[in-house]
Amino acid sequence: MSTTLSPITSVNPATEEVLARFDPFTAEEVNRALDEAQDAFIAWRERSLAERAVPMKRLAALLRERADRYGRLITIEMGKPITEAKAELEKCAWGAEHYADNAARYLADEVIETTAQRSLVAFEPLGIVLAVMPWNFPFWQVIRFAAPALMAGNAALLKHASNVPQCALAIEEVIRDAGFPDGLLRTVLVAGSAVEPVIADPRVRAVTLTGSSDTGSRIAELAGRALKKSVLELGGSDPYIVLADADLDAAAKVGARARNQNAGQSCIAAKRFIAVEPVARDFERRFAAEVEALRVGDPLDPKTQIGPLARADLRETLERQVRESVRMGARVLTGGERGTGKGWYYRPTVLADVTEDMPVFKEETFGPVAAVLRVPDADDAVRVANDSAYGLGANVWTRDLVRGEALARKIESGSVFVNGMVASDPRLPFGGVKRSGYGRELSSYGIKEFVNIQTIWIGKGSQAAPGPRSE
Ligand code: NAP
Repeated sequence: MSTTLSPITSVNPATEEVLARFDPFTAEEVNRALDEAQDAFIAWRERSLAERAVPMKRLAALLRERADRYGRLITIEMGKPITEAKAELEKCAWGAEHYADNAARYLADEVIETTAQRSLVAFEPLGIVLAVMPWNFPFWQVIRFAAPALMAGNAALLKHASNVPQCALAIEEVIRDAGFPDGLLRTVLVAGSAVEPVIADPRVRAVTLTGSSDTGSRIAELAGRALKKSVLELGGSDPYIVLADADLDAAAKVGARARNQNAGQSCIAAKRFIAVEPVARDFERRFAAEVEALRVGDPLDPKTQIGPLARADLRETLERQVRESVRMGARVLTGGERGTGKGWYYRPTVLADVTEDMPVFKEETFGPVAAVLRVPDADDAVRVANDSAYGLGANVWTRDLVRGEALARKIESGSVFVNGMVASDPRLPFGGVKRSGYGRELSSYGIKEFVNIQTIWIGKGSQAAPGPRSE
């Protein structure tokens, strides 16, 4: 560990105290990590799905056993309230278990009748997948990619965000302790720019990024140049539509959580609240009251609901977005300023009278700031919802479920939740359209992103063709 300034630094966002600094890996160290991952891949790809499921199940058990230790690490390194940090680890365990239990079904050969004696589609691993990951769900984002990718027989090189190096190392540790082959998932501690040349390395067969849309463009450009498959999970500005027949209490209560979970630093947080005129004023009042009731404080206190933002620059961006929007006419119903004292706190904020040209509407707000906009009717709500560069998630509140489903189909986003809060679930595909990225994670769709969908055609021979592959 170095005492000089390093881009790889762990700082407690609640106290601003430097916890640890790490020397970035040299190019030689990155090269060695790739060699190790490649060696591990050669053996791992030969293991059956049943064999791969054994360490995957053990991983789930270890994540639960170590929830106190890893939960605390998440909290002190990026500021998430401890209750949410532990819930994140439980979700990781669920994701690992889901793929241990279902990968064989998802990746079963598909036999197709043709003129061949036997023809089928097989799903074979690709090799090393480079994963560039963000800090906001420092364990879940990685497990969400790694559980299906490893079950499919791939290896992984993890470049985590520079502000969560301790989480990055802990993930490598728990994967190793679960009994996966040495080197199958290697963490490299490097800055974003240092990982760019790795994309072209022939040992890397694909790349996945969860991060901002600008970084997504850069990764896609480099992956395209090297002709590598990429999956991009990028930013979002999810609409939250409240129709005239909505259960306003539920919409306000869930809305406060949907916006402020993880101090609002979630790609699928509800960000643009779009309420129809007949109920808009009532909704604003109830929603602001729910937001005001949230407990801001020390993220290590289990009663805390909102902790600090993860980095000082994130708070500065949020302050600028609020300041400019208020100058353009937005009205502060609650919050609208930073917290006092140490730590990168920002008070949970609700802005009313928002218009489509304001920064809090046009840009992604990555913090506890809700923008509320009034529209005359449901048609206009859908128009406004789609008036965004992003298309990740969306929420619709109405008591008419048929209408809710019909409206959902008109919204340009990777998922729509009617009368509920957008959330990822290992059983359902997750991803976006437009500047929110492409490709899907989770479910059967996610595990098929990083496989060779291989056609096997077998003509007549002297022996009968084999039956289905046994696991
Ligand atoms: P970011 O700046 O794009 O960083 C994400 C990752 O990309 C980090 O590991 C970062 O490394 C790396 N990176 C940055 N520049 C790079 C480059 N030129 N080449 C290669 N890697 C590079 O994103 P962020 O602001 O930290 O994270 C928040 C964003 O992620 C938000 O927009 C959020 O919506 C999005 N997000 C999306 C999802 C989803 O599932 N769709 C989930 C969570 C978050 P360094 O830390 O070293 O710079």
